[in-house]
Amino acid sequence: MKARYHAMVSIVLALPFIYTGRFYTGLMCFLFGVFMDVDHEVDFFVEYRRFTLSAFDLSEGLQERSLCIIPLHSIEFVILLGILSRIYPCLIGGVIGVSVHLFFDGAINRMKPFSPFFVYRAINNFRRDATF
Ligand SMILES: [Zn+2]
Repeated sequence: MKARYHAMVSIVLALPFIYTGRFYTGLMCFLFGVFMDVDHEVDFFVEYRRFTLSAFDLSEGLQERSLCIIPLHSIEFVILLGILSRIYPCLIGGVIGVSVHLFFDGAINRMKPFSPFFVYRAINNFRRDATF
């Protein structure tokens, strides 16, 4: 899903928290929901041995790559945030932002059922055809 759609969804999710006085929870919901796509940079670097700032390379260009690592796009990351939210309660917003981000990415990109699990992708050597 394109970043602008993630931004729109994340704003809608964050607003109830902000209006009820939980600003940082709403902020985490927005930030994690939108900016977790920075992990596409990992895939780009592994494939091309350089970094990019091109939004196209980091989103639509992903379709042309043979690997699918995207470490933040994982259930394990949601679990880690959930554990950390016991210490930093505002991170529950991050759990919500990442979960909804994963839901829309999975629905739109037609991922295979276990693809949201980083361990599953690692077992399959991060092959793109095992993910989509
Ligand atoms: Zn994404």
